[in-house]
Amino acid sequence: MESKHIGILGAGIVGLSTALYLQKAGYKVTLIDKEAPGMGASFGNAGLFADYARLPFAKFAMMRKMPGMLLDKTSPLSMQGSYLPSLIPYGLKFVKACFPTKYVQGKAALKSLQEHTRLTNQELLDLTDAQGLIRSEGCLGLFATEDGFATAQSGDLQERREQGVNLKFLNARQVHDLEPDLADFHAGGVFYPDTRFTISPIELSRRYALYFTNNGGKILQDEVQTVLPNDNEVLVNLSDSTAKFDQVVICTGFASKEILATLGVKVPMVSERGYHLTLDTGAKSLSRPVGWLDKAVFLTPMEDGMRLAGTAEFAFADAPPNPQCADEMLKHAKVMLGNNLSIKSSWVGSRPSTPDSLPVIGALEQHPRVKVGFGHGHLGLTFAAITGKLITESIQGQASTVDLKPFAAARFN
Ligand SMILES: Cc1cc2nc3c(=O)[nH]c(=O)nc-3n(C[C@H](O)[C@H](O)[C@H](O)COP(=O)(O)OP(=O)(O)OC[C@H]3O[C@@H](n4cnc5c(N)ncnc54)[C@H](O)[C@@H]3O)c2cc1C
Repeated sequence: MESKHIGILGAGIVGLSTALYLQKAGYKVTLIDKEAPGMGASFGNAGLFADYARLPFAKFAMMRKMPGMLLDKTSPLSMQGSYLPSLIPYGLKFVKACFPTKYVQGKAALKSLQEHTRLTNQELLDLTDAQGLIRSEGCLGLFATEDGFATAQSGDLQERREQGVNLKFLNARQVHDLEPDLADFHAGGVFYPDTRFTISPIELSRRYALYFTNNGGKILQDEVQTVLPNDNEVLVNLSDSTAKFDQVVICTGFASKEILATLGVKVPMVSERGYHLTLDTGAKSLSRPVGWLDKAVFLTPMEDGMRLAGTAEFAFADAPPNPQCADEMLKHAKVMLGNNLSIKSSWVGSRPSTPDSLPVIGALEQHPRVKVGFGHGHLGLTFAAITGKLITESIQGQASTVDLKPFAAARFN
């Protein structure tokens, strides 16, 4: 199939990265977003290129913990009551993904992407001259108790080690040496020396968008209504006009679910909302992202202040923010850095989350002119560049760097 003009729907970090790879490969590319680039979930993340994250969430041990966590108002997991019916298809597939064979396959699939994240992210950082937005200080994940740390050492952390992740166990004193301003609330934790982070997720998106437009790419600010592929082209209906492309890539994050439904493709993706608060921490500072893993919060030192990010709230994307989520997070930050913190700004957004923790990448079986890149859950920043590369290979009809079967939309049928 000859493909010249590609339309990318969604200018989040995934759509932008895809646009850069396609442009580099010589295609004429138009990005369409209802907002300015990078203003969706990509705006609000914790900034980590989380190269260590190679374990799916779905496993029976997690499933057993979930009801208790949902009932505990102080836990990082919560649900908007009226969202329950939307969670049912996700829940059924989540249970299926918990079976040991599926878990092992999921681990292998995440690893297969992670093996290419550093190189592909670096390729785009170099291309767009965005290296100045990146820090290479590693990251820390801490545990409140010796018991919790010991359990992780023989569990998840051991699994990561077996997957080849570079990690070191640190006691409380060693953590203090790395981050002297942290309070003494923990029993030590894990240090990932190779993990990098960005000091401004939005500036990174802007940098990518600027490079794209400076090199002939076009960005249209408009809302996609429907996508209509036929044998020769793909029509994209916008607010008051129709755009035509040879092929289209759907990268609209959580909204991809709705757009795919109009194409007859169902995906059990949910809106897993996360929050962030930008904090003024006075004289206290950190050199790297620090996670309190029992509470599922991360503090990341960013350009505009300390970003406190976390929580997993299953809720409608457009529901008003739940103040309790932010309040709980702030309590944890005060334990980590002391009471002298003030809030500069707050944000909530939807992670596009799939039941098996794997993104959806590649061509749609039913519509070969439509490619997809969405559903990256907690790892969209990390996986954006490799997703763009894989979609580009798929459009070029080249052999794929990564086997795309585990990421097919059809796996949910
Ligand atoms: C609190 C929090 C912390 C996180 N921390 C990390 C982290 O440290 N590391 C990491 O790798 N990931 C992290 N993530 C996940 C990551 O942010 C997401 O996976 C990623 O941003 C998804 O990118 P995306 O481009 O798919 O979606 P988005 O950024 O949401 O982009 C989708 C775009 O589509 C547009 N759109 C939607 N519908 C339409 C339409 N109909 N017409 C036109 N445009 C449309 C939107 O305006 C938006 O710009 C975190 C997420 C949260 C919430």
